[in-house]
Amino acid sequence: MIGALVTGFLTTLKHVFRKPVTIQYPEERREPAPRFRGLHALRRYPETGEERCISCCLCARICPTQCIRLVTSGEERKVIDEYDVDLGHCLFCGLCAEVCPEEAIVLSPRYEASYYQRGETILRKSDLLRHGEGL
Ligand code: SF4
Ligand code: SF4
Repeated sequence: MIGALVTGFLTTLKHVFRKPVTIQYPEERREPAPRFRGLHALRRYPETGEERCISCCLCARICPTQCIRLVTSGEERKVIDEYDVDLGHCLFCGLCAEVCPEEAIVLSPRYEASYYQRGETILRKSDLLRHGEGL
């Protein structure tokens, strides 16, 4: 009985002086792994600021849950007017990013995705471009 108590105390004592594995979120933020698949982002060319997306719609076609909605316009050179990603249905499989010929849509390291309203889980083009800043 006493032996078990001493073993227990010694185990506790050993862990008291260890570096904590928890962090003080949100003041501290953990760096995601390089291949982490977080929130979607639309990238621009850094030299010109032009959007990379060429409106080919491959991302929307390959999406297994059909949670990407695109609205395009233009004849010779199509432009994306609307680009929505419904996070409520997204699997974060990364197929949209894999298939994109221009590396325009990527899954960014952003992981904070909590919302108060269901409608907020749909990322609009402006959100996606904001997420893509610096990527
Ligand atoms: S990560 Fe997968 S499920 Fe989500 S939008 Fe891309 S293809 Fe669709
Ligand atoms: S994000 Fe990529 S795959 Fe999707 S429409 Fe634009 S260029 Fe095509």
